[in-house]
Amino acid sequence: MREIIKGLWQIDEIGDDVHCFLWEWSEGVTLIDTGYPGKGATILAALRKQGYAPHNVRRIIITHADMDHTGSAYQLQRATGAVLACHTVEKIYLEQPRRRQSASLFLRPILWALSWVPTFTPAAVTPTELLVDGQVLPEGFTVIHTPGHTPGHIALLHKANRFLISGDALVNTRNKLRPNLGPFTPDTYNARRSVWWLAKKHGDDFETIVFGHGPAILQNGGKRVKALASRIFSTEI
Ligand SMILES: [Zn+2]
Repeated sequence: MREIIKGLWQIDEIGDDVHCFLWEWSEGVTLIDTGYPGKGATILAALRKQGYAPHNVRRIIITHADMDHTGSAYQLQRATGAVLACHTVEKIYLEQPRRRQSASLFLRPILWALSWVPTFTPAAVTPTELLVDGQVLPEGFTVIHTPGHTPGHIALLHKANRFLISGDALVNTRNKLRPNLGPFTPDTYNARRSVWWLAKKHGDDFETIVFGHGPAILQNGGKRVKALASRIFSTEI
């Protein structure tokens, strides 16, 4: 496990393809996303090494219902007894993982076929807490609804500690910060709009960004998202 900034850990025991995070706060710890299916034991072992028993996990927050983020949610919720939270609109995709749509017609049959392979299929799970935009959680996160990549995608802003967990609303792969407009994003209009919203409403609220995909940006994160949104919309933000 690697500490990105004080109290925020990237659980790199699950590899670097996709990231999940641990946030330490006064009443225990919160997990953000759960990696691919079958990573539950690895994540629990990483927690144990850090000094946390399963019951110390107070909440598991899902940024969005893609199998690389929800893959081990069922297993981890069962093992920890934690609250499992996601955006209201995303609930149905956790309960029925095969409903997830990709952008391209070409990919749809492939995804459908993959959805029958256990390695790529999260077990269905029912969230126990539904979140809405602007909600403030006890661990200090403000929920920001950032639809586009999925309808109920959320990012999590920690205003006091000035960091943003972007989920897949932003990606930082190949050394480039960009919106997520790839083949797995069915609604690119809203994906761009969500970047604008992050920049316009919250661009001054965070310094650090951690991503589902790509290395963390430690400094000037808000400024960089504002610059990105200014470029996308050809207007100063
Ligand atoms: Zn992802």
